[in-house]
Amino acid sequence: MIAGGGIAGLTAGLVSARLGRRTLILTGPMLGGNLLSIESIEAYPGYPSGIAGYELLPSIQEQASEAGAEFAMTEIAGLEPDGDGWRVRAGDGEYGAAAVIVASGTAPRALGVPGEDRLRGKGVSHCASCDAPLLRGKPVAVIGGGDSALQEALTLAGAASRVAILTRGDTLTAQAVFQARAAAHDAIDIRFNVGVEEILGRDTVEALRVRDTLTDAILDLEFAAAFVYIGMRPNTGFLHGLTALDGTGRVVAGGDMGTQAPGLFAAGTVRSGSAGRAVAAAGDGTIAAIAADRYLADGG
Ligand code: NDP
Repeated sequence: MIAGGGIAGLTAGLVSARLGRRTLILTGPMLGGNLLSIESIEAYPGYPSGIAGYELLPSIQEQASEAGAEFAMTEIAGLEPDGDGWRVRAGDGEYGAAAVIVASGTAPRALGVPGEDRLRGKGVSHCASCDAPLLRGKPVAVIGGGDSALQEALTLAGAASRVAILTRGDTLTAQAVFQARAAAHDAIDIRFNVGVEEILGRDTVEALRVRDTLTDAILDLEFAAAFVYIGMRPNTGFLHGLTALDGTGRVVAGGDMGTQAPGLFAAGTVRSGSAGRAVAAAGDGTIAAIAADRYLADGG
């Protein structure tokens, strides 16, 4: 059983099915995971010009399906040991599994400021490629300074009139390639030492109330949208008490992706120490599937 339909889960499913294991992937409602909305995955070997997530992920699904993996568009809700294996509670019922690979990924963190929940879907967004066409010619803000913030700011800069990257510190943490491209882009401003205090607007986002983190001065800046990319939280709520999680809630696993619990493996960004790259998540899925196969071959 594989919990997760992102690149780690689909690759684990592909490899597991090819090893002759009866393999079911619980994909959740949106097969493809976080990469599905990425316009161009640039560092995936073999694609020198990049490949869109919405092209890569369905092709891995097809490959896994042809290898014999089965799919259920439901989410894992609970997990408990059951004899030598596991009982998996999902949205559509219960399943038994001799081994489970957790590849449930991560979800975007929220800022937790007033206006954010009320205006979610009305200008507050975590998906640049989904919303960029609606923001043509308008100024938008991207909050954060990591890879997600800069990659998505570059996507938005093709449509919005201006993109302001608002970062609370005085450095960016994104890869050099994104920093150089953002700095060189005419439509992108990078503003340091800016903390977002509130998202303002009656029916849709109209402005952001920000604080200069050096002087504490408060200012309202007009934007038609706020894209929040301040890190990710792991989808591991269903795992509490079953195996060790690190301080961020990610699953602790060894070099073979095995966790402390027998027959339970972790792969992709849900794993503690994950590299946060598509190819690394696919590698995790491959290793976990091979380790699960060996675990079962050895009698569990
Ligand atoms: P990160 O955790 O890497 O970065 C989060 C950013 O948000 C940091 O700049 C952090 O700044 C800032 N931040 C955190 N909390 C707040 C807050 N409350 N208010 C304002 N800013 C805040 O998350 P990402 O989503 O960018 O990346 C997640 C993982 O995915 C990483 O491993 C990344 O490398 C990977 N990734 C890779 C991509 C690629 O290879 N193309 C693309 C996208 C993501 P501070 O320093 O102040 O805490």
